[in-house]
Amino acid sequence: EIDMIEFTDVTKSYSVGTRALKGVTMQIEDGEFAFLVGPSGSGKSTIIKLLMRFYDPTEGEIFCNGRNIKEYNLQKYRALFASAFQDCRILSLTVAENVLMRRVKEDERSKVEEALKLADVYDKVMSLANGMDTILTREFADDGAVLSGGEFQKIGVARAFVRECPIKIFDEPSSALDPISEYKLFDNILKSSKEKTVLFISHRLSSVQNADWVLMLEHGQVIE
Ligand code: ADP
Repeated sequence: EIDMIEFTDVTKSYSVGTRALKGVTMQIEDGEFAFLVGPSGSGKSTIIKLLMRFYDPTEGEIFCNGRNIKEYNLQKYRALFASAFQDCRILSLTVAENVLMRRVKEDERSKVEEALKLADVYDKVMSLANGMDTILTREFADDGAVLSGGEFQKIGVARAFVRECPIKIFDEPSSALDPISEYKLFDNILKSSKEKTVLFISHRLSSVQNADWVLMLEHGQVIE
């Protein structure tokens, strides 16, 4: 269970002399829908990378339930998050394996189906030769299915829906989607995550009105 995530004066430099984040302080409470917005390069993904401990802050601290996240077992800590990244890699595996990111047990198929529906790509997947057992990409399979950028992105988004975790992270999940698909996706995220903590990242403000709070970043700083 997660009650609270806290950033206190967090700064991150990837290389000497540059700062991707400057003194970011924020709190995310259990069940909140938080929206991070700002132009590209403003530090949104860096917040996620620090939160998930792909990197540690250069200065400042991140706490989870009052404990520094460095004190947690990394694997157990990361298991708290389900994430969909904009540059999700689609692997040369079946649709279902791509959603679960591992082999699929028979009793998990309905879970995958539900996630594909929430990501609004279920009908497309069902139109493929072998449904959710269709191999994606032509990398290793001559008859592998090649989908559009937006459809591949939706399969990546299904990864965040399928996992039952306290915190869901959507990092620009709609960058390759048209406005109607974006609206639908946002609606499904809201509906499916009523009691969950959600971090939604976008460079567009279009779907912000239902968020509990909005953090606006510019040049690595919180400006609003
Ligand atoms: P956003 O998600 O808002 O587009 P990022 O957090 O990805 O912004 O990037 C913020 C800044 O940090 C950018 O200037 C970017 O070039 C830099 N940056 C991000 N990741 C890395 C990295 N792994 N190594 C070096 N610089 C990085």
